[in-house]
Amino acid sequence: MDRCLYCNQSLEHGATLIELLINHDVLCPMCRHELIRNKKKFIINNIPVDACYIYNDFFSSLLVQYKDCMDEALKSVFLFNHRMIFHVKYWGYTLVPMPSSKDKIKDRGFNHVLGMFEWCKNEKYCCLEKTSNQKQVTSTSIQRQKMIGNIRCTKDVKHIKKILLVDDVCTTGSTLKGALEALSSFEGKIKIFVIATHPLNLKKVVR
Ligand SMILES: [Zn+2]
Repeated sequence: MDRCLYCNQSLEHGATLIELLINHDVLCPMCRHELIRNKKKFIINNIPVDACYIYNDFFSSLLVQYKDCMDEALKSVFLFNHRMIFHVKYWGYTLVPMPSSKDKIKDRGFNHVLGMFEWCKNEKYCCLEKTSNQKQVTSTSIQRQKMIGNIRCTKDVKHIKKILLVDDVCTTGSTLKGALEALSSFEGKIKIFVIATHPLNLKKVVR
């Protein structure tokens, strides 16, 4: 019997009849229902941001299990139900993941943002690098402002036509603003996609 990748219950646990018939998910319905879908966009530097989910306690636990407890198998759960629409919406875009520090990737043994998009066939291009290692959650607003200047583009992007910046969570938007600044000489189209957003981003326009 297949089991939920997060809670290890049977995939039939809590399922309705319809879910039993059509469900091919990797999370059980109980876990899937804890993830709150988002359809609103918000703006960072005039660029609309797509976010799949609202960042809530369940999403936070799932992300901790994946990236801090290094449960790499969970990489497929985040966009499992979004794959078709993602392909249609972002066809032809080159995915540029937000940078993690090299030490974190080494400790973890995998790039957690790239892992979430491993299923998709878009070209991936890791051209952004953090120039200092600050943990955003504990940083002050002044430090976050500084962080905008702490991302640099390390590779040529002239051959790319369209970039999709991707990240796991958008909290304040400062990391994404830093990435946009690092890519300011890029002349093609840029869109932004994050797996989850802090609910406050949906209440105001991020400047
Ligand atoms: Zn579950």
